[in-house]
Amino acid sequence: MSDRLAIDGGTPVRSAPLPPSWLGAYEMGVEEEEAVLKVLREKRVFRYIAKEESETARLEKAVAEFTGRDYALAVNSGTAALICALVGLDIGPGDEVIVPGYTYIATAAAVVTVGAVPVIAEVDNSLTLDPQDFERKITGLTRAVIPVHMRGTPCRMDEICAIAKKHGIKVIEDTAQANGGKYKGKTLGGIGDVGCYSYQMSKTITAGEGGMVVTGDRLVFERILMAHDSAFGFWKPDETAIRPIPGEGFRISEVSGAIALVQMGRLRGIVERLHEAKYRIVNQIRGLAGITLQDVPDESGDASVCLMFFAPDAETANAYAKALNAEGVPCGTMFSKEIPDRHIYPNWTYVLEKRGRSSNWSPWHPSVYKGSVEYSKDMCPKTLDYLGRTIHIGLSPKLTAADSDDIARAIRKVVTTLAR
Ligand SMILES: *Cc1c(COP(=O)(O)O)cnc(C)c1O
Repeated sequence: MSDRLAIDGGTPVRSAPLPPSWLGAYEMGVEEEEAVLKVLREKRVFRYIAKEESETARLEKAVAEFTGRDYALAVNSGTAALICALVGLDIGPGDEVIVPGYTYIATAAAVVTVGAVPVIAEVDNSLTLDPQDFERKITGLTRAVIPVHMRGTPCRMDEICAIAKKHGIKVIEDTAQANGGKYKGKTLGGIGDVGCYSYQMSKTITAGEGGMVVTGDRLVFERILMAHDSAFGFWKPDETAIRPIPGEGFRISEVSGAIALVQMGRLRGIVERLHEAKYRIVNQIRGLAGITLQDVPDESGDASVCLMFFAPDAETANAYAKALNAEGVPCGTMFSKEIPDRHIYPNWTYVLEKRGRSSNWSPWHPSVYKGSVEYSKDMCPKTLDYLGRTIHIGLSPKLTAADSDDIARAIRKVVTTLAR
């Protein structure tokens, strides 16, 4: 095989396509089919028909065990999980919540939805919340921080939790993209005050749509229960000690609960296979001149949904990505001014323009908000610099060792040829 790059007319490293980077969605099989059919045949598509034996209740029990938390509630999306977490912690108008500038817009949207003000902080070379910038952004109004384990990467939880504790701030882990990951032996989502997951189709395990909230605090959990259902006390009148608060329509369907329960049984295996594939590649490109690997705060706990590394500058990143695609390795860069990717804060238009859900009121209204947060598209330059230089390769649990070796070979070929 020639070393000439495929973009220059050489032979591509891969001619056969790699498995697409869907995760649990492409692991679905007869077990999910049977689980759905069972619920349909027994005519109990609403979770409270079967009470404690419902698929949804069993899912919650499995997740509580998995995370080591006493309480878990399934909801109908990851966004709903975040909103419930915030309400659970009694966060609302007048409060500030710190979020990283690189996360799906839902993290910031949830904060605005409960009437609180999102404060945007930088990410560092892990592409997750920079603890130093988190601490810098704390004001007298800060009530919570939402570290987001983006693209499978565990956040720097020791530093984040220590800073939060020092300042009396709650920690909500957004684990939507890192289900099954760990940090120093602890399950992601089970470390902070509240943890949130999503079962949307692009996540590690999925029910199409769905979400989960976990916590170790009984009173927080009661608020979460009520936040997710305007009549929660109607279904479970004896289960709550506190006075009811108004809730949303965030109940999960028993059909989704049934699918998610089967997928939950696949979670460990999916993450193990992803991790093996990822680190087989990583170990062949560590120290390669011309790139810097993303810093993963705990590699052994990496949920490994993708491989990310940095080029020295955005122009080189684009050149690498183009050449890698030509070698048969689908990949992309993360940030360009032309693509309004909602995972990057300059594209969170309604936040940057301080627009709430009512034309009469927004969380930034001086009637309740006494802070002075300001937003601009270039407010987190470090975040934009890192993302502008990032090359992202989505991974699949179906990657074989030979596939992984091809990806590593393509990276080495492209980088050694193009690096200046
Ligand atoms: C997917 C995602 C969410 C929202 O989950 P939905 O189920 O789509 O509502 C929140 N945060 C992050 C980081 C996500 O990736």
